[in-house]
Amino acid sequence: MKKGAAKEDRIWDVIVVGGGPAGMMAAGRAAERGASVLLLEKNESLGKKLLITGGGRCNVTNAELDTRALLAKFKDSDQFLFSAFTQYGVAETLDFFHTRNMPTKEEALKRVFPASNTAQSVWETLVAYLKASDATIMSNAQVIKFNASEEKGAQKITSVSLKGGKEIRGKSFILATGGTSRPETGSTGDGFKWLRELGHKVSEPSTALVPISIKDVWAKKLAGLTLPEIKITVLQNDVKQSMKKGKILFTHVGLSGPTILNMSKDIGELLKYGDVSVSLDLAPSHDFSTLNTALQELFKKEHRKKIKNAFGESFGDLIPNRLVPIILERSGISPETACNSVTREQRIALMQVIKDLRMHVRGLLGVDKAVVTSGGVALSEIDFKTMQSRIVPNLYVVGDVLDIDRPSGGYSLQLCWTTGWVAGDNVAK
Ligand SMILES: Cc1cc2nc3c(=O)[nH]c(=O)nc-3n(C[C@H](O)[C@H](O)[C@H](O)COP(=O)(O)OP(=O)(O)OC[C@H]3O[C@@H](n4cnc5c(N)ncnc54)[C@H](O)[C@@H]3O)c2cc1C
Repeated sequence: MKKGAAKEDRIWDVIVVGGGPAGMMAAGRAAERGASVLLLEKNESLGKKLLITGGGRCNVTNAELDTRALLAKFKDSDQFLFSAFTQYGVAETLDFFHTRNMPTKEEALKRVFPASNTAQSVWETLVAYLKASDATIMSNAQVIKFNASEEKGAQKITSVSLKGGKEIRGKSFILATGGTSRPETGSTGDGFKWLRELGHKVSEPSTALVPISIKDVWAKKLAGLTLPEIKITVLQNDVKQSMKKGKILFTHVGLSGPTILNMSKDIGELLKYGDVSVSLDLAPSHDFSTLNTALQELFKKEHRKKIKNAFGESFGDLIPNRLVPIILERSGISPETACNSVTREQRIALMQVIKDLRMHVRGLLGVDKAVVTSGGVALSEIDFKTMQSRIVPNLYVVGDVLDIDRPSGGYSLQLCWTTGWVAGDNVAK
């Protein structure tokens, strides 16, 4: 043991690493079956990603009740998943939420959402489940290492080390640290490293750095135009999802440039759950008040000119010439309007477009939009009857850590409910 490390005397029956949907379900089920369970989560609270699913509404499952039809959606993984889904499938998931006072509603393509329209309801149901089943939750607990020893020719995990020095011992371990999408929610792919160290094959998660295509026809007129320091916000159902500042490039089909490429993976993820739009703030260093003053001064100075010719020199940095007709069109202002006759309403409309030039995303270029390759541990190395590792017998693997291709529509979370429940149920047997 390292100097300063504090080894706890207690040996937990089950230690679950990662408090996302899969880890919460696994911990709840194992505790419900009577095991002493410790759930370790590195964030200050559980399920950060869960709360942003489905644009904040959480597409909790897909109401395809025919297991074979459901599993056909998982491409080549269906053969592995059958035994887990026959233990805990969509019907059991719906029952889980309904009996815990969380009614659901079904929308197009059998997508199921909480009737409340908010992911918070799903989160609250799971947290209540954990409390009722007596699982112990430790937040701000970042696992940095799995400690294993060799026993009868196989590896056995004995404890986990936490950042800060604590070492916690357990009999069985459930790995539920998620994949790598939206790392700010805590999913930083930590589990992949440990799995490799323990001897598992782990495929690289695909990191899509691709341009995006845009539905709005007007955007195509700007092909070749580069905008240097603007603010780019990604929205789903008008709710802000992420924001970055940087350079973008208009292409003949949409948008590219380093900032867009870096945001493309998140955009791809969001597209699975509904419409996505991108908003450009062309004047990020101005608020509405300073922009208003700048425009008033511009129109005063250029009072003899038509508005289409006014921006040229003095506003060139903000609104390059090629953007002017687009901005005016989006604001509903005739380009022939004289600067000295621009009304207050027109100026407000203009400011709104400058601060929020909105475009609708059609998709990612060069990536199959329907199916996401997640990367993760090879399925042949997991026994899906129990979710137990075939390499390290006291390790169970659940949720996004598994390398399973799946489409959008509630299938990802269903995988978490199924694999989490099966692991929790079997680990405690
Ligand atoms: C924007 C977005 C929207 C989505 N919407 C939907 C949807 O509507 N429906 C759907 O079915 N799927 C959706 N998904 C996919 C779904 O969110 C994931 O499949 C699901 O969250 C995976 O759950 P998980 O428990 O495996 O991992 P995660 O949710 O990634 O949780 C992993 C947890 O482990 C913790 N952790 C990581 N490393 C450590 C460590 N070292 N020590 C301790 N804790 C650690 C993390 O902090 C995190 O809380 C969406 C994904 C995104 C990004």
